[in-house]
Amino acid sequence: MCYIVYFNIVRAKTIVNSPYNQRQDAFADRIIRGKITDKFGNVLAETLVTEDGSEIRNYPYGPAFAHVVGYSNPQTGKSGLESVENFELLTSNAFFLEKIANDFKDQKNMGDTVVTTLDADLQQAAYYALGENKGGIVVMEASTGKILAMVSGPTFDPNAIEENWDYLNSDGVGSPLLNRTTQGSYAPGSTFKVITALEFMRENSDYENYSYECNGQIEKDGIIIPCFNGNVHGYEDLRASLANSCNSSFANIGLMLDKTAYRQTAESLLFNKKLPCVFDYSKSLFQITEKSDSAEMMMTAMGQGKTMTSPYHMALITSAIANGGVLMEPYLVEKVTNHKGAQIRKNVPRRYKKLMTVEESTQLKSYMRSVIEDGVTATQLQGTSYSVAGKTGTAEYSLTDENKTHSWFIGFTNVDNPELAISVVIEGNDGDTNSNAVSIARQVLDAYYNRQ
Ligand SMILES: [Zn+2]
Repeated sequence: MCYIVYFNIVRAKTIVNSPYNQRQDAFADRIIRGKITDKFGNVLAETLVTEDGSEIRNYPYGPAFAHVVGYSNPQTGKSGLESVENFELLTSNAFFLEKIANDFKDQKNMGDTVVTTLDADLQQAAYYALGENKGGIVVMEASTGKILAMVSGPTFDPNAIEENWDYLNSDGVGSPLLNRTTQGSYAPGSTFKVITALEFMRENSDYENYSYECNGQIEKDGIIIPCFNGNVHGYEDLRASLANSCNSSFANIGLMLDKTAYRQTAESLLFNKKLPCVFDYSKSLFQITEKSDSAEMMMTAMGQGKTMTSPYHMALITSAIANGGVLMEPYLVEKVTNHKGAQIRKNVPRRYKKLMTVEESTQLKSYMRSVIEDGVTATQLQGTSYSVAGKTGTAEYSLTDENKTHSWFIGFTNVDNPELAISVVIEGNDGDTNSNAVSIARQVLDAYYNRQ
């Protein structure tokens, strides 16, 4: 008896959350799986019961929320929030009398509703902006850690997960079941220059006196690092180096950095570390050691080399810069209610970790504002009704063809009182400025600020 009580109360939550554990069926026999909604109550997942009593899990937005909401199907298992929130969805906090009445009629009780932090309009805008591209978009509220949108492409229709299962798992279709925002692993490209700039500031209190004369390339130990498109940037301080995204200047900075301190800074920003994330994710890698040579330092400083990260992780770092250096714990569930809307529990914003000082974040914000206002890499974000600060990136992914590139953008809006943090990766963009990450970020942010 003691064991049974222990099992039901203490262990039930872990057991039911395992996507492979068939014991959850015992719950589904008595409960109609609850709804998942966005922050405004728009239904993202619900169970429809047909006349003969069979149940169909329905996803009204189809592919737009496929990775973040996920799927729940007896044949394929569960993913996304359908997996993470399985216990809540299969628990009924329906009112007592309603439950008694259902028990008398031998009817199932309605499972609880998971109200997410997601914004259906913004998510759809991100989904349409991403279009046919492979890549990922994450939008967070910097001051709270609420995730408002999380889109990965290619995607799939969770309504047809069972029919399409073999296709979705076959080779050559681009791994549509992968959530690239968290599981993707990409060279950060020039977005990493923000972190290199932070390290340089930490090592040099007189960093504002930094100066460099760019003649289009830098050479060290037989390795030549050219600036993008053969540009010659001339005289630059640290701000101009970032605004111009000058490879030569950042390679020069890389040669000056303390390797151990650089690694400590990267790790304090959660490279080589666990991330606060409820989904499966790729750990970000930063591989500079005392043994790293000049070439690796130059490459790493400008975001190439062996450094790898995900759109999700870069969204966290960006949100911390926007939020005075403090990373808020990212979260996706606003609250759980019973099926009539009575609140069962509510999540509140929590500090996760201080990634940098207020002074450091203020300086980086100002530099990232210059990237938009003074630089030439993010002109698509000039002339907006909202202010933006950010950094673009072009990450080479081919060892033989330097024109094969992924496109990055990280940034935040309302620079004086930061609101949204956004991170975008477009795979294989190969330099097309019409569909690069910064132009896609513009579409997403315009949709947010221009809606009625
Ligand atoms: Zn340059």
